[in-house]
Amino acid sequence: MMDIHIKGIVKSSLIDYPNKIATVVFLSKCNFRCGYCHNPELIFHEDEFPDITPEEFFTFLDQKRKWIDGVVLLGGEPLMHPGILEFMREIKKRKISIKLDTNGTFPGIIEKAITEQLVDYIAMDIKNNLAKYPETVNTQVNSANIKKSIALIMDAGKKGLIEYEFRTTVLPRLHAPQDFEEIATLIAGAKKYVLQQFKSEQDLIDNAFKDEKTYTIKELQGFTKLFDGKVETVEIR
Ligand code: SF4
Repeated sequence: MMDIHIKGIVKSSLIDYPNKIATVVFLSKCNFRCGYCHNPELIFHEDEFPDITPEEFFTFLDQKRKWIDGVVLLGGEPLMHPGILEFMREIKKRKISIKLDTNGTFPGIIEKAITEQLVDYIAMDIKNNLAKYPETVNTQVNSANIKKSIALIMDAGKKGLIEYEFRTTVLPRLHAPQDFEEIATLIAGAKKYVLQQFKSEQDLIDNAFKDEKTYTIKELQGFTKLFDGKVETVEIR
């Protein structure tokens, strides 16, 4: 029995995997507690939502195979699930591309996924400059693991094994302009970085973030300049 807990799927999405029609798979659990997280139910109330079993998922996938060309794994943190690599192998047997959204705390699993060619696109969150990770994600963080994941992803990108992006959900409460200079140094040499504007339409881990002040688009555009000469492409989303 595959040890993985699927809590929801979006059958086909045009926005979650660049240039692909993808099925999105929501997995429970996370080792971070970002106050602005949009998926608290996947983290705190996973038992209240029945699992979609892997068998049910693959029956669906086999029926829809003709209409989709990608699967996006997100959460929560997909790599918290012991059966994740087995799950990815089953998807790859069907010759479907996989995009993995991760917080980067499990470099060992990322490395295995890359080595086994189980992943085609990795989107890794850069929560903040490393010194501010604990206050951003509300738990202790092993910075070495974050750095290792960044290095593995960039190296795999250089070798043409994967496409990737690093991204930060930006909030004035958590990120000062100086933090983006440090993030630019942390990911120097990367291909793509995305500044994500925070949106609070739904319940969050900490609802005190609901009416949170955000930076203006103009301010975000200003931050993109801090990446000049360090990162190839910087986008605002
Ligand atoms: S935002 Fe991502 S990393 Fe943070 S708690 Fe939510 S799922 Fe975990």
